[in-house]
Amino acid sequence: MCIFCKLVNKEIPSNVILEDDNFLAFHDLNPKAPVHILAIPKTHIDSFNEVSGELMAKMSEFIQKVAQEVKIEKSGYRIITNIGENGGQEVKHLHFHILGGAKLKWGHFSDADPQGHF
Ligand code: AMP
Ligand code: ZN
Repeated sequence: MCIFCKLVNKEIPSNVILEDDNFLAFHDLNPKAPVHILAIPKTHIDSFNEVSGELMAKMSEFIQKVAQEVKIEKSGYRIITNIGENGGQEVKHLHFHILGGAKLKWGHFSDADPQGHF
């Protein structure tokens, strides 16, 4: 079973922010912003490549609720989902990073470009 499935089953503890029948949101262990939350579907889906439009529509509403719950919906935030090798996906269970709580930089995305053009 993957690490996020274990988290859903409460086999591994997590700092839960919001939960419903389909989704779970919890604090990232290694935050990269003052607010760094992960939102995941409770069913195992490898990545964004495999998610249905129907579940994605519900997931969008869940993410909106999470942003309201932690009061970053007005100040602004960023959602990111990493997909596969080049996307830098480490955990192979679909998750959306929700980042906020400070003005975020628009990053340096690739080691192939030290100037950060791409
Ligand atoms: P990614 O690189 O997009 O696959 O992101 C995986 C994220 O999961 C990283 O930001 C990790 O810090 C986070 N992470 C891994 N294990 C846990 C855990 N047990 N609880 C909370 N966050 C975790
Ligand atoms: Zn899983």
